[in-house]
Amino acid sequence: MAATGQAGAGPAEPAPEDLPHLRRCVELAAEAADAGDFPFGSVLVAGDGRVLAEDRNRENSAGDATRHPEIDLARWAAANMTADERAAATVFTSGEHCPMCSAAHAWVGLGRIVYVSSSEQLTAWLAELGVTPPPVMALPISQVAPGLVVQGPVPGLDEQVHELHRRFLRFSGSGPALS
Ligand SMILES: [Zn+2]
Repeated sequence: MAATGQAGAGPAEPAPEDLPHLRRCVELAAEAADAGDFPFGSVLVAGDGRVLAEDRNRENSAGDATRHPEIDLARWAAANMTADERAAATVFTSGEHCPMCSAAHAWVGLGRIVYVSSSEQLTAWLAELGVTPPPVMALPISQVAPGLVVQGPVPGLDEQVHELHRRFLRFSGSGPALS
């Protein structure tokens, strides 16, 4: 019998109420790829379950390699939410936060993170696709912001993200690509 072999930072199976948000992240990642951006998408959800904001990677379209959805959502949260609201919120994302975004998330005091695919998976996928490693080390969130509650990856959905990267890089040729 085959094990999944995916050691996440939290429970392997997401809560049923988390799944629509995780699927939306994958949709946003696909939208990013369709627009010529790296396939990453994220959703910010309030403590009461309301979707507050969502974003996707805009590195290529904005000409700014820091335009990751997670740091944009952290800035949105800082501008539009109280500290208590941020602490109660969850950020769902198609790919685990990169160190820049993990730091931004922690600095603004956002709550839980649930990611579809891990930075470790992304590193392996990019190596398999022959992509030059990004300029920033793909540290897991837990090493950048050890106090955060983090869950992922999500078996099954993570393979959809893998396919998006595969398809995107086949057409674009190269890329840095951290979430
Ligand atoms: Zn990032």
